[in-house]
Order: sequence, then C-alpha cells, then structure tokens
Amino acid sequence: MSSELDRLVYDWNGDGRAARAAYRAVELNDETLRDGLQGPSVRNPPLEVKKRLLHLMDELGIDSADIGLPGASDRARKEIVELARETTKLRKLRPNQAVRTHPLDVGGAIRAAAEAGVAIETCAFIGSSPIRRYAEDWSLDTMLKNVETSVSSLVKERLPVMFVTEDTTRADPETLLKLYETAIGAGATRICFSDTVGHATPDGVRNLLAFARDEVVRGRAVKIDYHGHNDRGLGTVNAMAATEIADRVHGCALGIGERVGNSSMDQLLINLYLEGVIDRDLSPLVECRREGVPQERPRARRPRVLGRPRERARPGAAHRGRPDERRVERDLLAGAARLRSDARADRPCHGRSEGERPCADGRTAPRTRRWIEPTALARIIIVWCIGSSRRS
Ligand SMILES: [Zn+2]
Repeated sequence: MSSELDRLVYDWNGDGRAARAAYRAVELNDETLRDGLQGPSVRNPPLEVKKRLLHLMDELGIDSADIGLPGASDRARKEIVELARETTKLRKLRPNQAVRTHPLDVGGAIRAAAEAGVAIETCAFIGSSPIRRYAEDWSLDTMLKNVETSVSSLVKERLPVMFVTEDTTRADPETLLKLYETAIGAGATRICFSDTVGHATPDGVRNLLAFARDEVVRGRAVKIDYHGHNDRGLGTVNAMAATEIADRVHGCALGIGERVGNSSMDQLLINLYLEGVIDRDLSPLVECRREGVPQERPRARRPRVLGRPRERARPGAAHRGRPDERRVERDLLAGAARLRSDARADRPCHGRSEGERPCADGRTAPRTRRWIEPTALARIIIVWCIGSSRRS
C-alpha cells in the first residue's frame, strides 16, 4: 500500500529502468584516527577525544577502527595501547593498526598488542603500482620477500592480519596477484584494495573488486576490504560502489584525510541508510561533528585534481572540464624521478608529524617540517603541486 509520501515523491533511484545498484550492508572500518589525522588541515586531538570518538563509532554500528601506526614513535605506540584497551569496553568495534612491511613496524605492532593485551588486527601495507615502485626503486622480489616475512611474523604472534596494497587502482593485475598470493600464503585473512590517490571511478572500483573476488580470493576464506580517497570528489560514491562486492569498506569522519581527504564515513552511513540498506540510529553523527577533529584550513579540501584554474589548466582545457593532462603527467614523472634519485643516493626519507617515523632502511628521520607527507606517493603529489604553483 502506498503512503502519502509515496504519492508526493517519485523515487527514480529505485526505478530500475536502466540500472539498479546492489548496495549491501557491509562491515565498516573507520580510518579517522590514522589516515584522517594525516590530513594537511587536521590537528591531532587529545587522547580523551580519541577515546570518545571510538565510543561514538561503536554507537554508530561501525565494526572496526584504525587506531594508529605503532611504528611511528613510542608515543604513537603508547596511544595505540590506551585506545586498544578502551575498545574492550565497547559493544562491537574492534581495533586495528597500520604497519609497513618492515621489521621495525612489525615489531612495534607486536609490542603494542602485547602491552594492550588485545589481539589488534594488524594491517600490513606496501605500495604496489609501477610508478610507486619506480619512485622507490624497489624490485618485486624484495617486495614479495618483505610481505612474506612481515605477514608470517604477525601471524606467528597470533595477530589477525590484513594485507594492504597501496595505490592498487593504478597497479597491474599480475603484480597484484603475486603480492596477494604471497600474503594469503603467509596467513593473511583479509586483503585490502586501495584507491590511495583518489584515481578510481565507480566503474574502476567495481572492476578492481571483481578481480579481487574472482581472481585473487577464488572462494577462499579471505575477506576483501576497500579503502578510498576523494581527490576527484568520488570518495563517497566509490565507497557506495564498493559495498556491492567488498566485505568491508573504509571511511573517515567528515571525510578528513590525506590531501583532500578519504571517503566520508558520515556520508556513507547516511547514504546507506537512505538506500534502505542499513537501519540504525545515526544521531551520534551530530556529536561526531562537534567532537570531530578540528580543521584549520577547510579550503585545503577541494578536489586536488582541479586546484585553482590558473594553476592547473591551460587555455582551452578548462571548458572541457578536464585538467591539463600532459602537465599532470609530466610533473608526476618528474616528481617520481626526483624521489627515485633520492632513494638511490640513500638520502633519508622525511619524518612524520610526530617526527620519529623510521625510514625504510630503519633509520629515524629528524623532524624537519610541520606539514609532513606520509607516503612517497603523497610526496609525488606535493612535488607536482609546488611545481605547478611556482610556474604559474
Ligand atoms: Zn588512505
């Protein structure tokens, strides 16, 4: 029987004449306290605020939350211990932590879990795309060895392991298959597919996750995660598309995160609710906004791919609604080449916001800057942006 509202509102979203989405109520993983805090306009909140945010996430029915990078510093690890203990008071939400496939990070994760007395799910990540491998001067054999060693060390300590490839949406299927197969063979029970630089469209997400399901997992007991960013303004719609195939989808409160941000967890929740996929009380979102990580420079969050027209587009490009692709390509390659030469010259990598993130070779970089890039890929983007603004 139709309601008064049905008579007043016709919903083309569910018409089904040309397309019908198959959104699902998947698990949700909140990245606010890790990826979110890597946003350029975000302040690191006090521990008490982080604990309150964990409680709000739990009230929202979010299944898990990334609580930090234990390899970044002693302080970071101690906070993870406190936050992991806090999750034992929660109804549903379980903690996870992010590590590079590097012995220092892996050791930090094992220590954090032992100190907290909580089997914290550990998410071991490595760059996967050809441009990232080129920038870092990595060989695939070394990468596979690092993945095998890191994942098996964590599994040996009885920690649940998710293996994450960064920049998956620009990586070739052959390399991805080798990386995931190695991680699954070493005991990873989840694998994550990442749109680290916000490159993918919803079709790209569906293609990638169909590859994950049909060619990587192939019916085995391994779950699929999707992690997206918002550089093209597609963060939320990509996360929605991901729910059609993935087992768990990631997002950040208010869409904060690296560069212009991650998929927005609040928008994802609201849209899944409006699609009739989930039915839960979303009122804690109001307090999330109030408790939310303060943003100092909201203008920094516009889609990075566009930027200011005079910096990003040449005459004739703007009216076609596309950035200057040749300049983007040229600057990306120049940035990658600069990073590659840094790697070859054995120059230390930059520190992180806490100033103590170890480099890939195990050294600790000094604190040199207030704004810090968390990955080499972000450095490529930053080099590109600086280069563009200097030329204009
Ligand atoms: Zn990310």
